Amino acid sequence: MRAGGLDRLVAAMTRQFDEVIGPVVADGAIRLRPITSAGDLPIGVTDEQEAATYRLVPTGSDLRFAYGLGPDSLKSIVHPPRSPVWTMHRRDGSIIVEPFRTDAVSRAVIGVRACDLRALEILEGTQTGGPHADPAFLARRAGLFLVAVDCARPAATCFCESAGYARAADHGYDLALTEFEDPAAGVTYLVRCGSDRGRELVDELGLHIAPDDLVRRVELELDPDAPPMGRELRDDAAELVLDVEHPHWAAVAERCLTCGNCTAVCPTCFCTDMEDVVALDGESSTRTRVWDTCFSMEYSHLGVGPHRASPMSRYRQWLSHKLGTWHDQFGESGCVGCGRCITWCPVGIDLTAEVDALAPPVGARS
Ligand code: SF4
Ligand code: SF4
Repeated sequence: MRAGGLDRLVAAMTRQFDEVIGPVVADGAIRLRPITSAGDLPIGVTDEQEAATYRLVPTGSDLRFAYGLGPDSLKSIVHPPRSPVWTMHRRDGSIIVEPFRTDAVSRAVIGVRACDLRALEILEGTQTGGPHADPAFLARRAGLFLVAVDCARPAATCFCESAGYARAADHGYDLALTEFEDPAAGVTYLVRCGSDRGRELVDELGLHIAPDDLVRRVELELDPDAPPMGRELRDDAAELVLDVEHPHWAAVAERCLTCGNCTAVCPTCFCTDMEDVVALDGESSTRTRVWDTCFSMEYSHLGVGPHRASPMSRYRQWLSHKLGTWHDQFGESGCVGCGRCITWCPVGIDLTAEVDALAPPVGARS
């Protein structure tokens, strides 16, 4: 479909869903925000990313999705930073607890990258995989309609391919778009259907089947050899991060501010705390689940004090869980290689470089 088809797709989604969320330019970055038309998408803009660096730059093209990932992911939608749990009231001498019910809001999200589709699956496993599935997560997830966009221009901090994933979405979406510039027709979108709901929307829009030569050209554009990923994660990362006595942990801690930015932007980090607020008259209280981070002292506070008191132990906990013990807990890595933790770390700590530093010098391994 052409750009006009994208306009019609977004218009159809605004009619069919309670909310449509997509990438927009906001706060000097590409953020995920509610949109009302395709005109809200970030046309003619891309980003430059490096460790601790992010800036938007104009492209002069009409592409809408020619950017790397911004700080937001689907996590903010299905596992929001603040989520009400219950309210409690005194009534007629009794205490009444009223659980908060998450409304069944239908949301379409456009512009989702393949790495974030995988991150959603990983996050879903953490929130719903055990005997006590989070009903709020399930309700928000059930209401999602996902429109993926293949990643033709990864950021310099990305490393999804060495983390084991591809830049083109292959499952987990309702629709997937590949955006490219056709010299003859301008910006064009190849559309794939991943669900019955996606197929119904395509039929409603009256889109045409793309000819084989066009499909082939798009496949070539997504050739993993060009352009290259900016970073690479070693194959033995899961093993290296379990070397808890390695002196490099102390070296990272010299730089780490324990600010928790990396966990906030990570699409799979899920740790939370509970916040209770009691009304001044003592007649009611509310409990809210809020994002927390393994970088906070309070997160590991036991009876005798913080279990992980040093910055070194907190950084080591994050990286060794994310890349190492996540395998034991959930059967896979907790990292999809989106690179957000590298871009948004204020001091430029680079997960891939820290793993490299944990490796023995060449020739020292048996
Ligand atoms: S690694 Fe960077 S982003 Fe993460 S806590 Fe340390 S300073 Fe903050
Ligand atoms: S650890 Fe970093 S690169 Fe991996 S998924 Fe989280 S934010 Fe992305």
